[in-house]
Amino acid sequence: MLSHVALQPDRTVAELRELQALTGDDDGAQRVAWTDTWERSREWLRGKAAGLPVEETIDEAGNQWFTLPGESDRELLLGGHMDSVPNGGWLDGCLNVMAAVEVLRRIAAEGTPPVTVRVVSWADEEGARFGRSLFGSSAAAGSMRDQDELRELTDRDAISLPDALAEHGVDLDRATESRAQLANASAYLELHIEQGPVLEGMDLPLGAVLGTFGVERHRITWAGQAAHAGSTPMDRRKDALAGAAKLALEIRDIAKRTGDGAVCTSGGVVCRPGIVTSVVETAEQLLDQRHLDAAKLAAMLAEAKGASERFAAEEGIEVSWERIWSIEPILFDRKLVDMCDAAIEDTAGASHRLPSGPLHDAAEVSRSGIPTVMMFVQSLRGLSHTKLEDTKPEHLELAVEAFDRLAADAMTWVAQGSPA
Ligand SMILES: [Zn+2]
Repeated sequence: MLSHVALQPDRTVAELRELQALTGDDDGAQRVAWTDTWERSREWLRGKAAGLPVEETIDEAGNQWFTLPGESDRELLLGGHMDSVPNGGWLDGCLNVMAAVEVLRRIAAEGTPPVTVRVVSWADEEGARFGRSLFGSSAAAGSMRDQDELRELTDRDAISLPDALAEHGVDLDRATESRAQLANASAYLELHIEQGPVLEGMDLPLGAVLGTFGVERHRITWAGQAAHAGSTPMDRRKDALAGAAKLALEIRDIAKRTGDGAVCTSGGVVCRPGIVTSVVETAEQLLDQRHLDAAKLAAMLAEAKGASERFAAEEGIEVSWERIWSIEPILFDRKLVDMCDAAIEDTAGASHRLPSGPLHDAAEVSRSGIPTVMMFVQSLRGLSHTKLEDTKPEHLELAVEAFDRLAADAMTWVAQGSPA
């Protein structure tokens, strides 16, 4: 088939190994955003694109764009992120970028495309240094509204976020001007490792992503009464930890009853006074609940709240809830999900549709109203954000092929005016 003449999926794997050697060490990938190593990876990427008829732009938020002009101003975007967590894996983020570059090479080799094709490497997806994820994509998507908080952020060495950004040519006050980059975007595609065990468990290399989970994060405070561990009879205690413990187990049943991928996590409990000779007076519990369906997510939260009040009454203690953070589920474009599913079936023989637990840059782009889809490739043992992160080379190559197929179909769709 002519459209696949220039595609070399094995080149992507070789380039990822090359990047790993250049920007990693014995502990894993070290491309933390706003560092010299991250900058080196961007220079390396620039070199990879050098032979192509593309124009490079770094926008106001530090996102790196490579644009192949087409016959129309309508744009097909392919994206990923070069930054990693400290001691990260060799695939998270950069697989997306390098597969996109390979697809761009194939498209460029065929002459002027019907629509403009752009590859974007988003700045600071991971938020590893300052704790704020999706920096570049949220700025471009128009959902960055926390500049005042961002201004106050510092890293472990007390360097402020604005200062670190300035070292890399980014002015925080102007970051949202990157919004202009998405003015002509008609579709956004992102390939990513799954970072979970679902596809491996089904023995499938690839899956089409339905969207990203909505998240409800709460701090739950249980208030009881500190009392001597020796002199207080068991039936006279107001044990704050008992409420937290009951809820930590109850959320398993709530997730199981809700189903469809529901997950609930009690990520920590801090007890006071926290000494071996006292009943726990206060227990501060962290709860994270996720679902792709907004109504089911709301119901899970209501169930957990109801259960907590029941447990408080049983234990003679008080309970209060405080929302830490929440985000609604983000559903990807139906037409593009179908297209992604079909591209996977054609390439790998079988496909599966699944939600994404982690958030991704694609969620920000989708939130801004641009038709978006992600493709997942199997992760071995479901591991990510560690040097143990891995995917079989043959699955990576299959992923590049399927992603190229998706890009070809999406390009035709965008050229036809993205009919619903
Ligand atoms: Zn990632």
